[in-house]
Amino acid sequence: METICPIDAQFANEISALLKPPPPLQVQEYFENLISTRQCRGIKVKPNGEFGKGVYAALDFKEDELVLKDQMLVGAQHYSNKIDCLVCSFCFRFIGSIELQIGRRLYFQGLGTAENHGSDMDCCDPDSHDEEYNSLMEKLKNFGEGASSSSKEIFPFPGEVVESLMNGEVVLPYSKEFSLPPAVTCGGGCGEAFYCSKSCAEADWESSHSLLCTGERAEPLHTEALLKFIQHANETNDIFLLAAKVISSTILRYRKFKMTHFEEQEKFATSNVSDCSGISLLLEAWKPVSMGHKRRWWDCIALPDDVDASDEAAFRKQIRELAFMSLQLLKAAIFDKECEPLFSLEIYGHIIGMFELNNLDLVVESPVEDYFLYIDDLPYCEKQEAEKITRPFLDALGDDYSVCCQGTAFFPLQSCMNHSCCPNARAFKREEDRDGQATIIALNPISKGEEVTISYVDEDLPFDERQALLADYGFKCKCPRCLEEEA
Ligand SMILES: [Zn+2]
Ligand SMILES: [Zn+2]
Ligand SMILES: [Zn+2]
Repeated sequence: METICPIDAQFANEISALLKPPPPLQVQEYFENLISTRQCRGIKVKPNGEFGKGVYAALDFKEDELVLKDQMLVGAQHYSNKIDCLVCSFCFRFIGSIELQIGRRLYFQGLGTAENHGSDMDCCDPDSHDEEYNSLMEKLKNFGEGASSSSKEIFPFPGEVVESLMNGEVVLPYSKEFSLPPAVTCGGGCGEAFYCSKSCAEADWESSHSLLCTGERAEPLHTEALLKFIQHANETNDIFLLAAKVISSTILRYRKFKMTHFEEQEKFATSNVSDCSGISLLLEAWKPVSMGHKRRWWDCIALPDDVDASDEAAFRKQIRELAFMSLQLLKAAIFDKECEPLFSLEIYGHIIGMFELNNLDLVVESPVEDYFLYIDDLPYCEKQEAEKITRPFLDALGDDYSVCCQGTAFFPLQSCMNHSCCPNARAFKREEDRDGQATIIALNPISKGEEVTISYVDEDLPFDERQALLADYGFKCKCPRCLEEEA
């Protein structure tokens, strides 16, 4: 005989309500609204038998024309990329100045790698690195005052020059041509998040950062727990940070809906008010996430090449345990009883699975590259003059003098675009696309009614390799090209 505790049964029901695919009409309405907020002349999201949904042209597009600029639902810069690029934590635009971008890289280059030392914005590095870090800091500071020759090996550029670059005392020639928005610090005091504007700072705070900020405006216990969660994610998989953002933003939306709901209740007395149970508000808050295609992470993750097929079950169990560990840490940091289903392993696993199946690279080109190219293109005399100053920096930065901002993000509309090995569109950043939005450009003319497709893999690869890569996304490609090549 099996007995189910009513509370458990209710909890299980709430979880399955969150995982139930939304009805087609709601999906259509949601995407119509979303498209109206995007830079886009005309597309439609329609159900598509085989893959669930597809994006269709609502009018004719010319070759090279912009099809869509899609705003991310959530996104995060890779941890190791934080030392290379200082970008807005909300829109991922480069911030500060060319001098600051170069100075930071030289500074960290002198300190070693990101994995070893973290960034200066990073405060979750409590252990043995501290001492090493401090002594390096000391050496760096003393460099200008005639430090020993051994520190030259660690840091090839005088520390005081690097510092002056970072604090704005040194201005590089022509850098004004590449001015960047000044960095706005997080009002929560974490020293971890920086923004291009007050509006980005506020938007991030409202959407998720108010729950994920480690600054003094957060509660002490919460901060410590949060730092543990962040450290675990940085050491294992930064996909957990995205999942935390999804959960936080759902909680914050839920609280907002609840407040509006109470205000309405006061205005109209209780009789007029529609369904007000917690789960219906939570479902409303969850809506943007409900639209994404999901499977449990440990079920959908591709088996790595170095794992033998006979070890598959053990591998999937390990992944599940990793997610469980991360969830426990997150729960200790931001648990909210009213949104309890969000903290179930089932939901956490599905959120991460959604990223596994749909997440897209977040890339923003660096203005540092443009800057050095500009110097290189100057007329002979000006170039000679400018390079006297810029050349040592370029040399010190080395071969990869310019690194673009890299991360992962979930783009709600782009993730509805299906794959084809002969796509008619592609994600491509143009000169003017300087933030984290996804830009989809027509590869050839697309006529009204035609499905807009992109390639998830390098379409120049041979048939077998393409199919193997696409298997990781959980499907077998049957695009016209694959059908032809298979035959
Ligand atoms: Zn911004
Ligand atoms: Zn903060
Ligand atoms: Zn194909």
